[in-house]
Amino acid sequence: MTFKDFNFKENLQRAIEDAGFKEPSPIQQDAIPVVLSGKDMVGQAQTGTGKTAAFGLPMINMMNGNSGVEAVVIVPTRELAMQVSDELFRFGKSSGMNTATVYGGQSYNMQLRNIDRASIIVATPGRLIDLLKGKKIDIKPSFVVLDEADEMLDMGFLDDIKEIFTYLPKERQTLLFSATMPPAIKKLAQNILKEPEFITVTKAEMTNSKITQLFYVVDEYERDDALIRLFDFKNPEKSIIFCRTKKEVDRLSTYLVSQGHMAKGLHGDMEQRQREEVIRSFKKGALDVLIATDVAARGLDVNDVSHVFNYHLPFDSESYVHRIGRTGRAGKEGVAISIVTPHEFRMIQKIQHVTGGKMEAKVIPNIDSVK
Ligand code: ADP
Ligand code: MG
Repeated sequence: MTFKDFNFKENLQRAIEDAGFKEPSPIQQDAIPVVLSGKDMVGQAQTGTGKTAAFGLPMINMMNGNSGVEAVVIVPTRELAMQVSDELFRFGKSSGMNTATVYGGQSYNMQLRNIDRASIIVATPGRLIDLLKGKKIDIKPSFVVLDEADEMLDMGFLDDIKEIFTYLPKERQTLLFSATMPPAIKKLAQNILKEPEFITVTKAEMTNSKITQLFYVVDEYERDDALIRLFDFKNPEKSIIFCRTKKEVDRLSTYLVSQGHMAKGLHGDMEQRQREEVIRSFKKGALDVLIATDVAARGLDVNDVSHVFNYHLPFDSESYVHRIGRTGRAGKEGVAISIVTPHEFRMIQKIQHVTGGKMEAKVIPNIDSVK
């Protein structure tokens, strides 16, 4: 299957070719025809599988480009707002469609000016609701997208989202995308979508097959040692280490720096500006190790992460899927390595069951055999 099979308008087809997209990903193959048919849709696929284009391409194809704001895309974080906005602009610009990126902490005036010229708004819930409530904008979009819906709910945006919909026209096409599908998301979908079609990637596709998943069994006190040995052995080009707590993030980043790594921590207690600085350094390669909590890594799109380490396994399999989805993006190979103790075997089994993926047991290489 190729993108030509969707019979997109000429400008859009050319933009897809310019972006270097050769063939639609599985979620794109399934979702694009449904969106084009005008139906509401719920789409579930793992992070990094191309959900933005899955809704963006058909939406742009159906828009005029000359009748004010035609689409609103709601995303959980400002980093994601910028990314999604860039991706949509890339496909829409040759059809004369501007995107406005709307998030907290930026001047209202500038955002309002951008919205004036925009066909698509990409917004975080908080700022969007401010604009709607304060009657600063009056929009009648034909398309509304909730992107990364599970993350938005985790971050406590449910009430904001419900309120946003009270300001939006009843006549609209609504699309919801999510990496996981907990009951709260299904309920939200029932409330705000009309007879949606559900598209889910099968279990076997749940974890991207480009990701090799390994686990190493150690005793609790050996975690730090194991991590350093694995770093020496695997020599990861660019990696993220996931921890359960902020304290652990701080401790491990100090430790890794003392071991000569260019590492920094990322967690929710840091100021926004500090967080952005760390993410920027990591993206441009000034840092090669990022140590993060699950919450801090939300919405982080770095395309070339070679290794994801679970210093501790997360408490649930859905977080595991989110975490390892940071590697193996855009068709590249990735490795996900978990450090586990013998009493975490049940968690390993549960993860394998949920993801349908295989995790390979490995033995920590002896430090002498590495040197
Ligand atoms: P998701 O929202 O599912 O996490 P994204 O939409 O952010 O994934 O896409 C991840 C990356 O893959 C982006 O850099 C995007 O440009 C790229 N991508 C998406 N679809 C394709 C495709 N069909 N061919 C090549 N690259 C793609
Ligand atoms: Mg996405």
